[in-house]
Amino acid sequence: MISVVRDVTAAKRAEEDAKQARLAAEASASRLASVLESTTDSVVMLDLEWQVTYANQRALSVLEARGLRLGESLWKAFPEEENGVFAQHYRRALQEQTPVSFEAYLTSHGIWLEVHAYPAPDGLSIFFRDMTEQRAVERERVAAQQQIAHLARHDGLTGLPNRLFFRERLQRSLTEHPQDGRCAVLSLDLDGFTASNDALGHASADKLLRQFAERLQSKLRSTDILAHFGGDEFAILQGPIRQAQHATRLARRIVEALAQPFDVDGHQVSIAASIGIAVDSGEGTTTDELIRGAAVALYTAKTDRRGSYVVFEPGMQKVLRARQAIKAALQQALPRGELELHYQPLVRLSSGEVSCFEALLRWQHPQRGSISPAEFIPVAEESGLILSIGKWALEEACRTAASWPGHISVAVNLSPAQFKADGLVEAVKAALRASGLQPGRLQLEITESLPLEKNGRNLAILQQLRCLGVRIAMDDFGTGHSSLSYLQSFPFDKIKLDQCFVRGLPGSPEAQAIVRAVAGLGATLRMTTVAEGIETEDQLTALRAMGYDEVQGYLFCRPVPAGQIGAAISACRRQIAAAT
Ligand code: C2E
Ligand code: MG
Ligand code: MG
Repeated sequence: MISVVRDVTAAKRAEEDAKQARLAAEASASRLASVLESTTDSVVMLDLEWQVTYANQRALSVLEARGLRLGESLWKAFPEEENGVFAQHYRRALQEQTPVSFEAYLTSHGIWLEVHAYPAPDGLSIFFRDMTEQRAVERERVAAQQQIAHLARHDGLTGLPNRLFFRERLQRSLTEHPQDGRCAVLSLDLDGFTASNDALGHASADKLLRQFAERLQSKLRSTDILAHFGGDEFAILQGPIRQAQHATRLARRIVEALAQPFDVDGHQVSIAASIGIAVDSGEGTTTDELIRGAAVALYTAKTDRRGSYVVFEPGMQKVLRARQAIKAALQQALPRGELELHYQPLVRLSSGEVSCFEALLRWQHPQRGSISPAEFIPVAEESGLILSIGKWALEEACRTAASWPGHISVAVNLSPAQFKADGLVEAVKAALRASGLQPGRLQLEITESLPLEKNGRNLAILQQLRCLGVRIAMDDFGTGHSSLSYLQSFPFDKIKLDQCFVRGLPGSPEAQAIVRAVAGLGATLRMTTVAEGIETEDQLTALRAMGYDEVQGYLFCRPVPAGQIGAAISACRRQIAAAT
């Protein structure tokens, strides 16, 4: 017996090792498979022929739905992609043997996929997931962010840039490209917008603002910025401009553009704007200086040149300060007894006798002397002081008039602010009661700045006043914009033609035509007609010929203190006698 003994330990060990390795590989493959199955991604493995060698369940369901089985080319399921974006990325990964990641739109499914592809020498493992929803969320988030950013810098009503945006852009144009030219700030404010707002109602007033903004925009160049600061406040950043005149030219274009009325819900609405202009001096002007300068110029425009424009000059600051000083001093005027009423007679032409005295406020300022109501009434209206001042004027006028001959009335001017606040009717009642003046001897003068049309509240107040027995006069007739329709909205007892028309007499044909028309209107509507501001005998003759009932003016008598009423009556008699 020949026996061959061979040590197979190594072989056995190798076999055992191989078995262990196989088992380990199988374990790791199954571990990998279970990982691939449990991942939220879809996984596909391809060989170099694009054939699908493996697909996890998630991916398989997609492939099978397109009629593809394992071992077939991926492009059988997605023929339209064979030369598309996906294929390009995969080819690159294989050629360069580097992983690629990308997002692409899968047209056949209408979805966005995020893809990671890992190459190996024998094929490609592709991990992908549907990003469509995240993309939509992301898009919404970006849109929301953009909208918030827009809202923070724009005004909701007009969609125009707001104050914040305006300041940023102004700052930028002042600092960034000074060599392009200088810039100008135009500050705008609508004249009488509050009245239009009251008359039209808020919704229509908003429409008016939008139309106004559109019309402004149409007058600007693409480099100009129109901003809405809220309410009736607008601003324009103009620039770059080479000369300061370019700013005034723009302002003129705007003023001209506003000559055409607006059509708001079928109503023709005329609106004017006052404009303040500040031009960059080119010597390091700051944002604040320009904005403040334009505001000061606007303030000046509103007081001196309504409906027009004013260019800022350093001296204006002083005027503004003076006005603020008036405001402060006016607070003390009433308690310190610095206010006084003067009385100016109205003469009835048929009898040549004084029929009424108009009470006109006078302020004796301790330093400045007498200040005109034209100067301090707007300040009083702005600060709300007009309420106490107006109440005082009513009481004082009634008290004084109670001592006059019974056929002479007293006229008191009312401010729209007194209608806006509560208690006007009560105040009138109280003044009549305290003085014992007969209601028929009190006349109240209102102007067209008091909104009546479509304003039930103001009409109701007038009616209540009328019910007390008081008479209502329309003052400064012809200076507002709604004259004729205004007269029809309430049965006034009296129309006072504004002085500016009398001033044109007897020379100006236009003034003559208007003055005559108002006389006719008064006769038709059975309202007493009064002409104000008569200074010459020629004017008196013309007015008498046109049939005016009453006249008032320096020709007869200037406003006088209460103590000189008797003398004023005599002076009027003398004047009338001399003139006839
Ligand atoms: P108004 O009510 O139209 O008063 C007439 C103004 O014309 C008065 O100015 C009067 O002095 C002036 N005047 C009268 N005759 C002539 C004339 O022949 N020539 C010229 N150039 N002027 C004449 P005044 O007193 O300066 O008052 C200005 C305005 O201030 C008044 O205009 C009125 O709107 C307002 N005002 C005066 N007193 C009061 C008041 O107690 N309350 C309110 N709310 N406003 C008042
Ligand atoms: Mg008056
Ligand atoms: Mg007047």
